[in-house]
Amino acid sequence: MFDVMKIRQDFAMIRNHPELIYFDNGATSFKPDCVLDTLMDYYRNYNSNIHRGDYDISFYASKRYEEVRGIVRELLNARSDEEIIFTAGDTASINTIAYGYGEKFLKKGDVILSTEVEHASDILPWFRTAKKTGAEIRFVPVDDQGRFLMDEYTRCLDEGNVKLVCVTYVSNVLGYKYPAKEIVSRAHEHGALVSLDAAQAAPHIPIDVQDLDVDFLSFSSHKMCGPEGIGVLYGKKPLLDQMDPLLLGGGGNARFDASGNVILKNTPHQFEAGTPNIGAVIALGEAIRYIRKIGLDQIDEYESRLAHYFVEKIKDLDNIIIYNPHTETGIVSFNVKGVFSQDAASYFNSKNIAVRSGNHCAKMLVDIIGVSDTIRASFYFYNTFEEIDRFVDVLRETTLEKCIEVIL
Ligand code: PMP
Repeated sequence: MFDVMKIRQDFAMIRNHPELIYFDNGATSFKPDCVLDTLMDYYRNYNSNIHRGDYDISFYASKRYEEVRGIVRELLNARSDEEIIFTAGDTASINTIAYGYGEKFLKKGDVILSTEVEHASDILPWFRTAKKTGAEIRFVPVDDQGRFLMDEYTRCLDEGNVKLVCVTYVSNVLGYKYPAKEIVSRAHEHGALVSLDAAQAAPHIPIDVQDLDVDFLSFSSHKMCGPEGIGVLYGKKPLLDQMDPLLLGGGGNARFDASGNVILKNTPHQFEAGTPNIGAVIALGEAIRYIRKIGLDQIDEYESRLAHYFVEKIKDLDNIIIYNPHTETGIVSFNVKGVFSQDAASYFNSKNIAVRSGNHCAKMLVDIIGVSDTIRASFYFYNTFEEIDRFVDVLRETTLEKCIEVIL
């Protein structure tokens, strides 16, 4: 197991805020010094545009940028670098699939299968695709904690016409790992493709796209120790080759003329029109190296232990209600009875504890767990059991009166 106290020294945000307990890693993670140094090194020493300069610093920036494709390929065990596309983030990746594949190939009568657990970024693009193509969106029923029900899923597939399944790999509110491999194999048996939203998976668990046989998979850099403004879209090469790019422009085309004839570049470059976030991509490469050195198996195991420790400590508190007591990752959602989640979060803030409150962009979840807003604590590998103890001490004495005192 890794040395968490040593790891904490790698993070300026932790060194500079020794009193802060940061439990909002589901929203974004801190970045270690090596990632910040890599980003600054680009801007200080070889800041230039890629793929188009005829001089040394541009050659070097291009090489470093393209190297990260290989780093992501290794992370995901993709077949080739060409299956890795850099986007502006997970949201941009999913919009690219919904537009590039969905709008091109789905038609009236086709079914897009999803769940009511999805984050806005994994369903709103598909709502638009459905509206434009006439395809229909159906939701697979899940249980009252948002866990995936394979029988219901199979029943929905058996109803026919399912062409695409878009589901999350790990719920950003309830922390359950969806059985991705089985989801994909059953979809394929029914002739449907699968797009997996791995925003809350890629930072925390090992992913093998070949083993999953998944068609598309997307995630963001900023939740996995990398910079904001960058993300990844993985797609099987033959599928990517058939898709239309969401963005057209410089860098994505090979030729065009005044008559409107446009020849696009090959995959992946056809999907990366415009100057990309070069420094952030290179720094993402460093972030991936960093978390792989710690080990994604170890990260997964450690975060589950943190979450279970937390659940064990709060499950019998009279003032707490937990919505996902069997969470399989570092995400725990709960409320303080009788207290609005945002008021409780403001109270925790007064104690230097950062958590998220609200609906966490999963606005359909209210139909499943019966409440529209929760407090979410989401742990990462640099959090400690001692931080959880301190949070539990605060939770134990949290009352409506104390919360109101803070917000007034
Ligand atoms: N899907 C899930 C499950 C998420 O948790 C998030 C981020 N909260 C997103 C998609 C969107 O990611 P981003 O905002 O980085 O594009």
